[in-house]
Amino acid sequence: MMNEIIVPSSPCPVIIGAGPAGINAAITLAEQGIESIIVDENPAPGGAIFRQPTKKISLGFSPVIDNKSRQRATRLLENLERYKDKITVYNRAQVLGGLSEGDSIIVLHNNRVTELHYSALFICTGCYERSHPFPGWTLPGVMGVGGMQLQVKSNLVRPGHRVVITGTGPLLLLAAKQFHDAGMEVVGVYEAGQKMDLYREIPALLADIPLLFDGIKYLSYLKKQGIPVHYGWGIVGVRGVSEVSEITVAPYDKDWQPLLNKQEVINADSLAVNYGFTSRTQLTQQLGCAHSYYHDRGGFKPDVDKWHRTSCEKIYAAGDVAGIYGSYVAEVEGKISAYGHLVDLGQINDKEANLLCASLRNNLKRLIKFQHGFSKLSSPKEGLLSLPDKNTVICRCENVTLDKIDNAIATGIGDVTKLKMATRAGMGDCQGKSCGDFCRNYLAKQTQRSQQQIGKLNARFPLAPVTFAAFAAGEK
Ligand SMILES: Cc1cc2nc3c(=O)[nH]c(=O)nc-3n(C[C@H](O)[C@H](O)[C@H](O)COP(=O)(O)OP(=O)(O)OC[C@H]3O[C@@H](n4cnc5c(N)ncnc54)[C@H](O)[C@@H]3O)c2cc1C
Repeated sequence: MMNEIIVPSSPCPVIIGAGPAGINAAITLAEQGIESIIVDENPAPGGAIFRQPTKKISLGFSPVIDNKSRQRATRLLENLERYKDKITVYNRAQVLGGLSEGDSIIVLHNNRVTELHYSALFICTGCYERSHPFPGWTLPGVMGVGGMQLQVKSNLVRPGHRVVITGTGPLLLLAAKQFHDAGMEVVGVYEAGQKMDLYREIPALLADIPLLFDGIKYLSYLKKQGIPVHYGWGIVGVRGVSEVSEITVAPYDKDWQPLLNKQEVINADSLAVNYGFTSRTQLTQQLGCAHSYYHDRGGFKPDVDKWHRTSCEKIYAAGDVAGIYGSYVAEVEGKISAYGHLVDLGQINDKEANLLCASLRNNLKRLIKFQHGFSKLSSPKEGLLSLPDKNTVICRCENVTLDKIDNAIATGIGDVTKLKMATRAGMGDCQGKSCGDFCRNYLAKQTQRSQQQIGKLNARFPLAPVTFAAFAAGEK
């Protein structure tokens, strides 16, 4: 790992995020002779899906990663290596924000803050798991499904002994297999979506036979191992003294309201929960890009044109940050954004770029059709907002409980920024990454206002806590 970021003599394209979108953008630029810099906060490239172990192991990846993913990851990383004379990768480099007027970003790397100027900025920051509070959700042993996967993939640890998986979407099935492979007893998967909704979407799911086949493969693995998958079921709450010991689940109605008279209590020491993802838009917001609400994933994303240009000059957004449609879509969008940049540089014209991207766009259409197949099943429903009780902590950073939020709403507050000022929910270190979605959706429901009226929490510099010493080191 390089100790210091070496600022190039003249600015080049800078790509934030070394996941499938960012790496493919860099490789596509490199293929056309353009040098770029990738910055990523993780110890190694790969992004969320191809997260590498923090310690080097002989296999390269955690043993729970299946062959297909291993091959995809290896191909991606080998390609990156092939262009190492054109692509400089800074790992453990966290972007704290940007200065849109100066065309630069501020990066924290090795306890030093560096200003890095760019000729173009590609924001490929992916997404994070959406938090849905419920009684007991702050107890040790409760984790996001993706977070628990990272324990297995990255830290190579078994995060618990007996796990219940609740939430929605195909990731639950993959995670169940991975946790089982990692030696955990998987009590069951509780998918909030109804089976009928899944069956109705079969024509859309047929748009991508290999991915559909992956899903069937995971289901048959779980069946063989005796791990039940319950459709139309979800979390109610968790109990325990110092950690999780009891997990209550119940059937959900079509709005995901739990039917409490049918609830069941399961003894387990771990709960993996995922009711969807949120695009990681803090940087696109902080840089002033325009955003819109999109209903199928229930969140805001930056507005992009067909070349993934945002509303800000020289700034592109690709992959999950620009709409959460998975790693295959992220790969394609990374490439398309790079072609967009070639058009902007005048290296190719729009017509040539369209020709070069024709098959990528066909592929994209098919992949997005498949992803939309899961929208009916998995887009978050209002019933989840009824899970927390008045003492449930909603904002973990500032310890704000639901009753404080209710009291503030009772005073007539009608947008999420005023809610933050009144309660401090979203004012902590994570800047509302954890509670922002719940606060927005809850406020919209309680006040019967639209998402545009409720607005979103605005990200501010620095996006992560940073010491004065790191700034001082950057001055030297
Ligand atoms: C926790 C988690 C686990 C997942 N597991 C799976 C899985 O097992 N299988 C699957 O199919 N899909 C999985 N997904 C979804 C999948 O990761 C994405 O669909 C896909 O990786 C998107 O690619 P991307 O390039 O857009 O973003 P990502 O692969 O997420 O890459 C974005 C990168 O940007 C980095 N980054 C973000 N902000 C900053 C910043 N400010 N400074 C520096 N670096 C930054 C991130 O750390 C990350 O490495 C997971 C998602 C998450 C959040």
